[in-house]
Amino acid sequence: MSRIIGELGGTKKGPLIILIGGLHGNELTGIKAIERVFNKINEDNLEISGKIVGLEGNRKAIEKKERFIDYDLNRCWTDEHIQHLAESHHIFAEDDEVLELNRIFEELSSIESTKKVCVDLHTTSSDNGNFIVVPEITSDDPVINALKLPLILDLEKHIKGTLLKYLTQKGYLAFAFEGGLIGSEVAVELHTAGIWEILLASGAVSPDHVNGIMQIGTLLQTFAAELPHKLRVRHHYWITEEDNFRMKPGYLNFQKVKTGEVIAHDRNGPIQIPMDGMIFMPLYQRSGNDGFFVVEELDPLRRINLSVESSHFDKTSNQTSWKR
Ligand SMILES: [Zn+2]
Repeated sequence: MSRIIGELGGTKKGPLIILIGGLHGNELTGIKAIERVFNKINEDNLEISGKIVGLEGNRKAIEKKERFIDYDLNRCWTDEHIQHLAESHHIFAEDDEVLELNRIFEELSSIESTKKVCVDLHTTSSDNGNFIVVPEITSDDPVINALKLPLILDLEKHIKGTLLKYLTQKGYLAFAFEGGLIGSEVAVELHTAGIWEILLASGAVSPDHVNGIMQIGTLLQTFAAELPHKLRVRHHYWITEEDNFRMKPGYLNFQKVKTGEVIAHDRNGPIQIPMDGMIFMPLYQRSGNDGFFVVEELDPLRRINLSVESSHFDKTSNQTSWKR
């Protein structure tokens, strides 16, 4: 079996789109979504401009349905680490995963394209987990806007070695696309809808060819309707396995929190929120080093405007049907 889920392209010039699922081995919805999209493209014989490649991330961890075996494959993407692996004996399970993926990135990067995009598909262990993690410099890209999901900025300043930061430095529009709760069918649907939006917005497929698929794009809007538009990471609570960190139950992404609120416990006692804001990626699974983040909403007015706009749309559509 190969790491490559699918690879499609024609003679027409266009973007290079790399889709990665399972960079965390217990998050398999991305792989299912990539397979669905490739199957549909093949079934309908859709014409592709440029090249689309689907990849499995941490294959050894996927086999065991674990987040990772020895180290997190989304915290190790630095030039120093890759250089070190290239020169040294490989000890850890993830060492070969990094090198093989990097070799594929290098090969693909040399292909001529109108734009290079890498989509890293994830799911979270807390509910309400539909969002995009993207560096601020590329956050206004039309492909990002097409997804209409909350944008999380500055995460790369708090956690080291993410794939999206590494590939952004190599000239990619690279971002993490969180589809929702780990293992849920709705996350597969959301990832599938999102991939189609990405393929359309980047020009890899033409809207004339995908009529039936367009309607699933509204799924993304439905999810994001009540969520903030843009947020900046203000605080990262780092944990180790020895801390015995336990989140208090019931916290959702983007839930408001106040300074001093006790939201978790560890071996030293209660853990308080250090600032007002919204909770982001509270950890409700055993493995991982990010206890939680605190984020700040950047343009709350936009959210209000959007809800006004959508209610206006509702009225318009009622009117239209009444006229008919
Ligand atoms: Zn993940």
